[in-house]
Amino acid sequence: MKIVIVGAGAMGSRFALMLHHSGNEVTLIDGWQENVAAIKKFGLRAQFNGKSVVAKIPIYQLDQVQQLQNYQADLIIAFTKSNQLEATFDKVKTLIGPNTYVLCLLNGLGHETVLQKYVSVDHLILGITLWTAALSGPGQAVLIGTGNVELQNFSPKGKEFTLQVEKVFAAAGLNPQYSDNVKYSIWRKACVNGTLNTLCSLLECNIKELGQTSFAPTLLKEIIAEFAAVAAHEGINLNPDEVYQHVAVAFTSDSAEHYPSMYQDLVQNHRQTEIDFINGAVWHKGQQYNIATPYCALLTQLIHAKEELLQQ
Ligand code: NAD
Repeated sequence: MKIVIVGAGAMGSRFALMLHHSGNEVTLIDGWQENVAAIKKFGLRAQFNGKSVVAKIPIYQLDQVQQLQNYQADLIIAFTKSNQLEATFDKVKTLIGPNTYVLCLLNGLGHETVLQKYVSVDHLILGITLWTAALSGPGQAVLIGTGNVELQNFSPKGKEFTLQVEKVFAAAGLNPQYSDNVKYSIWRKACVNGTLNTLCSLLECNIKELGQTSFAPTLLKEIIAEFAAVAAHEGINLNPDEVYQHVAVAFTSDSAEHYPSMYQDLVQNHRQTEIDFINGAVWHKGQQYNIATPYCALLTQLIHAKEELLQQ
């Protein structure tokens, strides 16, 4: 399959390597100059479950997308951060032909609204992934462990192609699963990010330390209740008790000493976060549906305030 991956960060690199190794024609596009330069010069390098691998994968700087003008990809996979999605797709929209499908595996809510500006609903595929990835420097990924992908076409017409993507992902070892209700899975995963990522970033602690505070159960339950109330308005029935148990398992899991990605972006690297697509999305949807979401509103504003302080 001809696959363009937009966003050659940690996750874009993982998917690029795995799809390249299984024989697909993979092309990368990225806006981070040092990253593009490193991948052009040395290839895409990774520590893949402890083994060094290098793959020569073509990469284009976001501002040079016109060089790919006549390239018709079968599939474009979005792997920017949520807050980069719209500006990036504004630059790559010329690559989206009438037969191109776009798959979005970003964490968070509301990406379909952004992507529908560039691709028809029939050609939009949504999903979540439990694969993880990190960068140790430009063009260098650290890929440990295993994961899976859940995906579903946004409209019934896209099902046939989505099943083809499932096969291609299976051949790459990405453990895909066709979902009958991916929106439910997206909301359930957003509850994990909207509690653990946001609270650890504000409190500057890892997941285990958050779980050891006496406030953690109340905070989690209040935030999840807001997500569930707004999700219900969109026809998604989250069970708050089940979601709480699902999130709280992380406090005692093997990776409990992990600092969530929002912590890494904000506290360690002083980058903008994905908050507007997590708690921020629940706050703004709540305003639209007349549902009070005071926890999500406050958390969103606190994260933005911290972004301002750290970026000064
Ligand atoms: P990432 O930050 O590694 O990459 C996203 C974009 O930011 C890329 O274009 C990358 O080149 C750029 N970038 C990265 N570091 C940069 C730097 N220091 N300076 C300038 N630009 C930089 O993001 P990711 O971890 O690949 O995540 C992509 C999406 O996948 C997000 O929505 C994330 O929430 C989701 N996700 C991530 C993981 C994970 O383990 N990393 C797991 C599941 C889902």
